[in-house]
Amino acid sequence: MSASVLEASRGSDTATPASFEALQLSVPTLAAVRALRWQAPTPVQVRAVPLLLAGRDVAVQAQTGSGKTAAYGIPLVERVRASAGGLQGLVLVPTRELALQVGDHLRSLGQGHRVRVARVYGGASMAAQRDALRQHPHVVVATPGRLLDFLRQGVFRLGSVRTVVLDEADRMLDMGFLPDVERILRATPGDRQTALFSATLPPEVTGLVGRTLRDPVWVRIQGPVPTVEGVRQFYVEVAEQDKLQALRVLLRTEAVQSALVFRRTQRGAQKLADALARKQPTAALHGGMRQRARFAALREFASGRVPVLVVTNVAARGLDLPQVSHVVNFDMPEDVETYVHRVGRTARAGATGIAITLVGQYDMEMFDRLRRVVGTRWERHPLNLYARSP
Ligand code: AMP
Repeated sequence: MSASVLEASRGSDTATPASFEALQLSVPTLAAVRALRWQAPTPVQVRAVPLLLAGRDVAVQAQTGSGKTAAYGIPLVERVRASAGGLQGLVLVPTRELALQVGDHLRSLGQGHRVRVARVYGGASMAAQRDALRQHPHVVVATPGRLLDFLRQGVFRLGSVRTVVLDEADRMLDMGFLPDVERILRATPGDRQTALFSATLPPEVTGLVGRTLRDPVWVRIQGPVPTVEGVRQFYVEVAEQDKLQALRVLLRTEAVQSALVFRRTQRGAQKLADALARKQPTAALHGGMRQRARFAALREFASGRVPVLVVTNVAARGLDLPQVSHVVNFDMPEDVETYVHRVGRTARAGATGIAITLVGQYDMEMFDRLRRVVGTRWERHPLNLYARSP
């Protein structure tokens, strides 16, 4: 790593170009960006786009919401030679939602260049994806497991890939994809360009960078770091078996426009959503659901038709969810970072949001830790568990 350049950007760097024109993009890409109504590149785009266009390997620390997808997506579509054909770009992502989101993103960015993008992810039929792969996409966006299945079946090869992107690398490694990712990288040419994007840089991620990127440029983008600023943090001490009743009362008595309710397990999320749905429109979003159902849930929630969404951490992470008025921790988060991430879903962009944490008899230790680390502005919620329905 010694030869690497370490770059830090807070977005206030006046030496960097602040317009897409200054990034010297092609006319079709500029048109695509204009069609998306983006005014100016975000800090991560200002940093990463020129490096990737110049063919460098980059390791980027940036959060979801920073514009990281376009930071690699723009150079990717710029570098694809559509006329040459053949698979040229590969993007690995941890989840199917992200595969779909990123695939859409790349399609809109690459429209003018006629870039064909295929999306490959688990939990859906292989037939349609196999057909898409056989239509000679220029770029494939994939979750590692399903991609390996196709590689093993000999449906396609990675020998012509020029650029590989590892998106949300920390998440992929968290989910146990490291061996798969390394296996996939070994199937690509050694002289490929590699870009890694990650919200955090634990040793597993820096290790992967050291093993698989060539003389990488490190780019660190500060924020938008999730914060509890502007969030009113409430807690409710309630026996575990009364949590459902407490939540019902909260949803009835609070001015809830939209609420994300967090549960630890898929089963828990589904059970809770089913129970709530008997009294009010509620959807669940977790990894145990079929992809079609997950998308339906997201759409219903984003459109406001269903104001309550019960989610697991894994499902919620990395998703472009709308801002919500309330975050409810039905189950205690496992660590402080998770708490901050969950709560950061409310009170975005200066708005005020409300976070309510249900503290059961088994949650005291974690709750004490939260209170110590996240500060003292906690209010006991004046919930009356026995409030009757109006
Ligand atoms: P990401 O961090 O890639 O998940 O992007 C977060 C959101 O920002 C997405 O909805 C993008 O469409 C949007 N976005 C990305 N780049 C820009 C930009 N330069 N200007 C405005 N919005 C952007």
